[in-house]
Parts: sequence; structure tokens; C-alpha cells
Amino acid sequence: MPLSARMLVIVFLAMPLLEPAAQEPKVFPLPDERYKTDILLVVAHPDDEGAATPYLARALDEHKRIAVVFGTRGSSGANEAGAEQAAALGAVREIEARNALTTLGITNVWFLGGKDTASQNVLQSLANWDHGASLEQLVRLVRLTRPEVILTFLPGTFIGEDHGDHQASGVLATEAFDLTGDPTSFPEQLAGPSKRLEPFLENLRPWQPKKIYYFPDADREDIFRGKGPEYSVKEISKSSKQPYWRMALDSFRAHQTQAKSFLDRIAQMDEAQVEKLATADGGWTDALHFVLGKSLVGGSVTGDVFDDITPGGISFARPDVSPEPARPDLSVELGGPYSFYAEFRRAHGLTNLPHPEPPEIALQAPGTLVIPLWIRNRTAKTQEITLSAVLPAGWTAQSGTGRFTVAAKQVAAARIEVILPTLAENGGKKSEPQEISVHAESNGRSIGEPKLRVELRKRALPQ
Ligand SMILES: [Zn+2]
Repeated sequence: MPLSARMLVIVFLAMPLLEPAAQEPKVFPLPDERYKTDILLVVAHPDDEGAATPYLARALDEHKRIAVVFGTRGSSGANEAGAEQAAALGAVREIEARNALTTLGITNVWFLGGKDTASQNVLQSLANWDHGASLEQLVRLVRLTRPEVILTFLPGTFIGEDHGDHQASGVLATEAFDLTGDPTSFPEQLAGPSKRLEPFLENLRPWQPKKIYYFPDADREDIFRGKGPEYSVKEISKSSKQPYWRMALDSFRAHQTQAKSFLDRIAQMDEAQVEKLATADGGWTDALHFVLGKSLVGGSVTGDVFDDITPGGISFARPDVSPEPARPDLSVELGGPYSFYAEFRRAHGLTNLPHPEPPEIALQAPGTLVIPLWIRNRTAKTQEITLSAVLPAGWTAQSGTGRFTVAAKQVAAARIEVILPTLAENGGKKSEPQEISVHAESNGRSIGEPKLRVELRKRALPQ
């Protein structure tokens, strides 16, 4: 036995018999505080953050922590700054968005990797974004950033830009709001590795955000008034001594690919000229209106976003699903995004969310309007249905009208296609939306009359 070992034996024998020493408690690691946020903004494209930047600047003055998630890198947009297009443009626009947000002081920014989809149809965007993978990543980011409040586009269809990607960001954010606190949704994110070589489990914790607010991508404002708080953008920031709209414009300077000519123009102007242009052009100085989606902590509809929010987590709240509406045994209704949104509002406890009735859309003319329909036959026999469209003068139903049979207990998908007329030159005035309807009859009696308001435009995103 070497000397040192012999010494140890002697020391050991010399020690009195002790109780086993009390173990020091081990400290579990806590979530990374650098990523904790108060507000998580979820939008679709680089530059969409502009819909909220004056509010974000105000919230930063109040020491709120903010993170941003973009659904896409905006690779289908235009490029005013260079030759780059498609994926290359997406790479450029990612940096533009990061720079725009860094100007405000926001650096926690993620991209879901959805593909920029030029359409007004949210279902096209969700499909093209790989809905499941995007949702999984957004749920992960909400659990990582633990926002008190989610701020996003209002999920719905409207006369406006009505970009399907904007809608998709609102759909995903709403889904995430209802999933992230549920320990059974994406549970692999919540499990922790218990031994070596389990590098797939993430050790996140469920997190239930407290409120979700929306901003609409619609031209009309009437149906959103009084549905949430309003913030002036003309107030002066404590930190920058500038009005919030001016900080938003400074942040927007990063988006050269989207607005180089506009940005070059304002770069030549003095402050008074900038303010005049901003007030006249693009509504930089208009107040911001949010729509309260839901609050799990109370507070009034039009009160401040952070009213009744206190630090600490709250329990998971499963959304209140409203009952399915009663339908007659034989019925017809609008399909596509229109029926999706009716179901979506019902499933997520958002039945008070403002939406136009009848549903509305702005379309490019000349062009084609597609009216998607669901025809439900819950009777025990095959039914004959006659579809006809009631259209303004000059609009013609090209296909999808006439007589059809729907088998017993079947739900049939139908679509009526309408050729839209060339837009009349009317001295630059906007054309008024037209109401169109579909007559559906069976055995000489009406089984439904779905309606749609359609505004014709020189330019609009495809339906
Ligand atoms: Zn956008």
C-alpha cells in the first residue's frame, strides 16, 4: 500500500462514526430570462411589424420586453433596392426586418420559414407555410418567450389588402395562444432529457399567455371601433423625445427593398416636410386601434393592453367552444375561408370577434370571382338542388349554376365561377361594393341564400 493510501486508512479509522452528511440540495436551472417577453408580436412579412411599431416604441418606454415572430421572409415581394428576387430577396428582407427592429431596441426575432403566398385565401397560405411545422415552431417560441400578451393580425377576410399570409399569422398566433399552456400539446417540447443521448427533448414548460389582441388588415374601421384600446402615435417618447410615429418611420428606413423611392424622397426633406408627407401619405400619424381577442385575466375591452396583468404564470385555459349552429336537414352555405372562419371563431372562443356580415372581398377586375359552397344533405334520400347566382349587370356566371343531385347523408362541395366586368373609368372614384347572392332551391323551396359583398379594383391580390 503506498504511503498516502495508508495515511487515508489511518485517518478514516480515527474518525468517529457520523450520521451520513446531509446532501446539499441541487438547484434546477430556470428558464433563460433573456428571452422572457411581455409582448410577442406575430406577423407575416418583414415590414408587417410597421402595423405595430409606434405601439412597440411606447411599450419599450414602459420597459416592456418584446420579441417578434415573422411567418415568412417575404420572398414574393417586390424589390426596389436591387436585382435579388425570390429566396435571395427573402435573405435580404430578413436582415431588413432585423435592422428595423434593432432600431427600436428589439433583437429577439425569429422567422417560421413559411413561403410568402400572394393570395387572399388564408387556406392557401396555411398550406404553403406547412401549417403543422409552423405551428410547432410558434408553440416552441411562445413557450420560450413566455409572453403576457400576443399581438397579431386579425384572422378574417375583409375588403382591404386582406393578405392571406397576414391572416395566417393571426390564425397561428390564436392556435398557439390556446395550445402553449396545454401540457399534452407538443409534449416532446416539455420533456427534459433524463440521460445522455436524449438530445431531442427540449425541457420547456407550458405557458399560457394572458391576452391576445388583433389588428385588422381591412379598409373599413367601423366594425372594429370600441372593440379594443386605441393609442395615439403623436405622443412624445420619453426616451427618444420624438413622436412615436416618427420612431416608427425611422425603423421603417431599413425596408429599402419595399420602399426605396419613398425613403429616398424623405431623406431629402426637412422635419416639417416629413411630417406633412407622413400625415398625408399612408396614414403614419393615424391612431392605432387594437381589437381584444380574449383576456384570461379580466380587464376592460378598451382598457390598456396591460390592465389586470400581474407577474407570474396562470393556469392553462381550454378555450370555450361554442355549440355548432343548428342547420336544417338540407342547407347551403359559403365554403372556403368563409366557413373556415365561422368554425375557427367557434372553436377558439372568439364568437365576438368582429367580422363583416355578409362576408366581403375586393377583387381585381376584369377577372373571376369564385364562390365556394358547402351543400349539406342530412336527409335519408338523394336530393335535387338548383343553384343560381343573383349578380349585378355585366357580371356573368360562367360555371357552377344549374341542377345537381346530392346523395343521402352527403356533404357536397360546389363552386360558382363569375366573370367580372372591366372596371368602368369613374374619375378615380372607388367602386362601391356590390352584393351578390346565390339562390339554392330544392323541390321548389329555398334552402339558403348565401351572400357576399364584392368590391372591384384595378389591382388586388388573387382570390
Ligand atoms: Zn405583409
